[in-house]
Amino acid sequence: MNVYRNYINGQWLESASDQTAPNINPANIKDIIGTIKLSTREEARTAVEAAYNAFKGWRNTPAPTRGRIVARFARLLEDDKANLAQILTREEGKTLAESGGELSRSINVAEFCAGESRRLNGETIQSELPANFAYTIKEPHGVVAIITPWNFPVAIPVWKIAPALVAGNTVAFKPAEATPATAVRICELFEEAGLPPGVLNLILGAGAEVGDEIVNHPAVRAISFTGSTAAGIKLYEQAARRGARVQCEMGGKNPVVVLEDCDLDLAIESTAQGAFGSTGQRCTATSRAVVIDKVADEFVSKIVARAQKMRIGAGDDANTEMGPIVDEKQFKNVLKYIDIGREDGAELLTGGGRATGENLEDGYFVEPTIFDRVTPDMRIAQEEIFGPVLSILRVKDFDEAMTVANDSEYGLTSSIFTNDPNLIFRFVQEIETGMTHINSPTTGGEAHIPFGGVKMTGIGAREQGSTALDFYTELKVVYVDYTGRKREGNLY
Ligand code: ADP
Repeated sequence: MNVYRNYINGQWLESASDQTAPNINPANIKDIIGTIKLSTREEARTAVEAAYNAFKGWRNTPAPTRGRIVARFARLLEDDKANLAQILTREEGKTLAESGGELSRSINVAEFCAGESRRLNGETIQSELPANFAYTIKEPHGVVAIITPWNFPVAIPVWKIAPALVAGNTVAFKPAEATPATAVRICELFEEAGLPPGVLNLILGAGAEVGDEIVNHPAVRAISFTGSTAAGIKLYEQAARRGARVQCEMGGKNPVVVLEDCDLDLAIESTAQGAFGSTGQRCTATSRAVVIDKVADEFVSKIVARAQKMRIGAGDDANTEMGPIVDEKQFKNVLKYIDIGREDGAELLTGGGRATGENLEDGYFVEPTIFDRVTPDMRIAQEEIFGPVLSILRVKDFDEAMTVANDSEYGLTSSIFTNDPNLIFRFVQEIETGMTHINSPTTGGEAHIPFGGVKMTGIGAREQGSTALDFYTELKVVYVDYTGRKREGNLY
């Protein structure tokens, strides 16, 4: 049996812990892929210490040299794409096409960050005084903790680790318990790319144990986290007490607004894609469709027909459109929310339970589920479900659509379907989300474009794109006086 090992100070070490968990293929729970050892707090401290000891050497390595290693990692990732896609599909469940997409995104992000290593520029600033000027330098923090979820187990670690390294930080990386194999492979490829020992350290284990340990370690100066709101806010509070920097990407309840003049078939296909793609297990998934009354009946009947045609199955079957839920805990959670929707009085139109049929018996498959006549106060309209469940909220006009769309504690992404330019720009101005899409699904993003949300979704600098390095650097301001004389004026 494959036992996943930690990667600490350039060595692959099996944890001494006797606490283990199986890594299970969610499409077939009889397929045990390996065993994850839930590392000890002491081992987590060793990982942070290795990163701490490696920091000086790494920060003194010229940024373009650091970038070259990340560029080599991007090439290795490309060479390994087919293999890693198989690993990803087997342990997370998404379709091979979705895994391929995730890997392409990861390669693009690594390439982009490698390029940024030649652009780690500050600015020069004119002074009020003669023969004086100031300039800024971007410096790394030191040890950065990177804590990631299971839903994009390659892309999210890469979009955090690559900019952290390019900026000159060293890393303690704690991936989700459910996806150790992809995390191990990422670190193997960084090792092969020539990363010096201690610069990137992998610690496998439970969030409440090793995650908690690294979050509270005094040597960790910054923490980048993606995951649940509860864990993110807790970590934010803990880090605040000692002034550590925090970047959190948490929940979402992303709305699509469908207006009467839109291309309805496009809106339906895009909403289905956004709601059921990646089995609804992405932070940018469409979970609320806010539809104008006039077109609601047609929208509803067509999207129900689309959901019922969805081909459910194992991700490695080329025929499959929607894979399983990642694990038993999430599976039960999604089914629980479907029950809550029923109890709260929403009208269940399709789905509503475990998906059954040929080859589905041994996996965590859930039917694509649509509730109609959902009201904003219902829990399924407010809480993140993280599964293939779409709530339809009917509204009378654009103004009510905006009120309903913004009636959420979250603000990651959104979209609108209309061809009215005035309403498009009003929507862009009024919608309370960090990203928004016009006539396309709520999902998707590109390596060179910033990513992140507002309200309870996001804390700290945006990830990726032109802002990718913001979180991973501190600004130092330098004043230069080349008069050689005592300063006169500007005495404050
Ligand atoms: P989900 O599993 O729903 O994506 P979680 O927030 O539970 O969301 O997990 C995201 C990541 O955060 C995982 O790597 C998990 O182990 C970690 N984590 C969970 N709780 C804590 C905590 N208290 N401190 C640090 N990390 C945590």
